[in-house]
Amino acid sequence: MTETISGSRGLSIEEPLLFEQGSPGQCGVDLETPPDLPDHLGGLRRRQPAALPGLAEPTVVRHFTRLSQKNFGIDSVFYPLGSCTMKHNPRLNEKLARLAGFADVHPFQPESTVQGALALIDLAAHWLKTLTGLPAIAMSPAAGAHGEFCGLMTIRAALEDRGERRTRVLVPESAHGTNPASAAACGFTVDPIPATSRGRVDVGALKAKLGDDVAAVMLTNPNTCGLFENDILEIAEAIHGVGGFFYGDGANFNAIVGRVTVADLGIDAMHINLHKTFSTPHGGGGPGAGPTVLSDALAPYAPLPAVVHDAGGFHLVEHAAGSGLKPCGRIKGFHGQFGVFVRALAYMMSMGADGLRQAASDAVLNANYLQARLSGELTPSFDGPCMHEALFDDRFLKDSGVTTLDFAKALIDEGFHPMTMYFPLVVHGALLMEPTETESKETLDRFIDSVRGLAQRAKQGNAAEFLSAPAHTPRRRLDETAAARTPELRWRPEKKV
Ligand SMILES: *Cc1c(COP(=O)(O)O)cnc(C)c1O
Repeated sequence: MTETISGSRGLSIEEPLLFEQGSPGQCGVDLETPPDLPDHLGGLRRRQPAALPGLAEPTVVRHFTRLSQKNFGIDSVFYPLGSCTMKHNPRLNEKLARLAGFADVHPFQPESTVQGALALIDLAAHWLKTLTGLPAIAMSPAAGAHGEFCGLMTIRAALEDRGERRTRVLVPESAHGTNPASAAACGFTVDPIPATSRGRVDVGALKAKLGDDVAAVMLTNPNTCGLFENDILEIAEAIHGVGGFFYGDGANFNAIVGRVTVADLGIDAMHINLHKTFSTPHGGGGPGAGPTVLSDALAPYAPLPAVVHDAGGFHLVEHAAGSGLKPCGRIKGFHGQFGVFVRALAYMMSMGADGLRQAASDAVLNANYLQARLSGELTPSFDGPCMHEALFDDRFLKDSGVTTLDFAKALIDEGFHPMTMYFPLVVHGALLMEPTETESKETLDRFIDSVRGLAQRAKQGNAAEFLSAPAHTPRRRLDETAAARTPELRWRPEKKV
């Protein structure tokens, strides 16, 4: 039988929009009859009922449950999305985050009633400072990009306090797009630094761009090619030599936790993506958190609020007056993503210092296993071992008529979330794979077999198969250009597709 009557295929249910499923008059809850409004408000009442679908609760629950299953997720498939560290989120973290004492606190509660929550923020801060070796931390940034913003605002405040208005920030070409964006958002001009043929920052080019108008160098280490920046000490010395600051993008901290002390690298400020390195859920769900560790020189300029501790207990410093601090301002409404702090701290404490170090080593081992076993069929971009992610370019697809995008779409049919594509920009048609430490050898082997098999098929001249992939998903390939240029954001019954 080819077509089913319902359009569904077993558990792959054809899913109409809620607007198509609803019928007027149905409702999931019992609503009171609306009260009569006083005369002067009467004009505010809708003349027509809102155009909302009428739905019973089971319909809504099924709809969203089914939609959630149509997506690739870290809990359903291998998810080797490079640069994103899609590692397992231990359920213990979730269990602790749901404890009423954590889940139900409110940021406006009096300090005396949230001593435990403040102690938790302080303890998470202690772990992050210890793991990086840096003396201070701003806990409030809500994600990595926000941490970059926080770090650069802090740097700007420190420079202004010295009476300096520096305008330039140096950012390597391989950097994540958030780096130049954050620098620009803080009012700096972005000056790109080229990469060498070995995938590292060109230190000569960097030094040539240094001057007393440079506020900071931003560097990711390991970098987005999955390579350790071996010249990092020389870079730190060079930027400090002209009176600027060294910002570390800590998104790849996963590869070096417990093995490298960030302070020893000469870094003045670095955000830590708790949702990557410390295993809190991310991707389409959020929220993440990007606490930013700071050197002594930057500590006084950290944004408020800050948690402090004295004989009377824990307190939140909300205002600079009388504190001796010169904060760069306030970057978030409250104290940070508290639920993420609970999960990250649960992860750190359950792993222990030795477990975190082991996780970093295993992440690097897994990536090198992928790189070694895929290098025969694919083309690795750089020689030598990698750190926590393996980077390939599209030379292996040359003359096959298949692009990196087509290749990734075919991987969806194989039951894997694709790797990161076309990033970093320093290699052509990039395929960036990050297996993380939580994947077993069996999973990696299954993935490797599929990738190798697909590479062989592409080289044997089966381009048509790739161009029409994915073939086995609820929806086929979308016209991404049309979707971006002429998005259809409003449901119009007459234009049903
Ligand atoms: C993920 C990432 C960021 C941005 O972090 P968000 O938490 O997504 O804002 C910055 N730099 C690198 C290298 C990253 O991988």
